[in-house]
Amino acid sequence: MQRPVLSLIIPIYNEEAIIAELNRRLKDFLREMDETWEVVFVDDGSQDRTPEMLNEIAAVEPRYKVISFSRNFGHQAAITAGMDRAEGDAVVIMDADLQEPPEVVTEMIQKWREGYDVVYGQRSIRYGESIFKRVTAAAFYRLLRTLIPIEMPLDTGDFRLMSRRVVLSMRALREQHRFMRAIVSWLGFRQKAVQYERPERFAGETKYPLRKMMGFAIDGITSFSIVPLRLATWLGLFSGLVAIATSGWALYAAIAGRTVPGWATIMIAVALASSAQLIMTGILGEYVGRIYEEVKRRPLYVVADTLNLPSTESSSATAEPSADTSPEY
Ligand code: UDP
Ligand code: MG
Repeated sequence: MQRPVLSLIIPIYNEEAIIAELNRRLKDFLREMDETWEVVFVDDGSQDRTPEMLNEIAAVEPRYKVISFSRNFGHQAAITAGMDRAEGDAVVIMDADLQEPPEVVTEMIQKWREGYDVVYGQRSIRYGESIFKRVTAAAFYRLLRTLIPIEMPLDTGDFRLMSRRVVLSMRALREQHRFMRAIVSWLGFRQKAVQYERPERFAGETKYPLRKMMGFAIDGITSFSIVPLRLATWLGLFSGLVAIATSGWALYAAIAGRTVPGWATIMIAVALASSAQLIMTGILGEYVGRIYEEVKRRPLYVVADTLNLPSTESSSATAEPSADTSPEY
């Protein structure tokens, strides 16, 4: 069978209230679509009727593919599974809850046709989300930007289009704690934003309660930055300076005879020892950080194009899709 031009990947977790409407909106949208397409639904171990409902709609539409997980592995794992299977020249990730209107995809495809490899949806307005969620999300993306050494667009989730060569490069990144939106930025390639207004969730509750959101934020920072480890070194150096000042003061007080015997010794010992410990923790942190960078086994580089070289369309570390296999690059 021919590969489709467009793959839509939709991660789904306990969304039985949404599937009928999602199917209706997808059909309306895809009917108008000029490109060939497939939809890859990834059921992330739902406990409600989601898997049965997905299988029902896919039974009558062979272009609907369903991947079902054995349990809940999380949103990012679901996206990964979809990307491992999607065959399209352009792959779009969108949520099931219709907060990411399918209609924006048309605009993304246009940009991709113009030659962009990554087209991400940027939320200009968010409706129906609590002030707490909006404020923490805005603060988080700004903090992340200062901590990680790659250019990351603000106010952007996982709603994005990626060209096949980006998807193939992405398959080479098999780290456990996946923060997909930053991984895409890390990969590089030509990126472009399209603005959209983020409507309210169509039905049901958010599947990202605070606990999951915190975990996700920590994953984001720690998978791209060892700055938190380095904090110990800086803190150690700072407390070292304080320790020297304290020691001077304690010595002076002791010599001037204003203290009980032994006080200065204890003060100096405590101040120096604690700063030495922090510095050593920092040094350990540097090495742990490096071990951590190594065990991620990320490819050292990502190739965008090759010329007159055999195509190696694979998910190896140097995935090099060549121009002849897909002219849309
Ligand atoms: N989701 C998932 N696995 C999870 C949590 C969420 O596949 O463990 C899906 C969910 O069904 C939805 C998308 O990921 O399609 C985004 O989740 P949600 O809309 O709850 O997040 P929010 O928009 O509130 O940030
Ligand atoms: Mg949502």
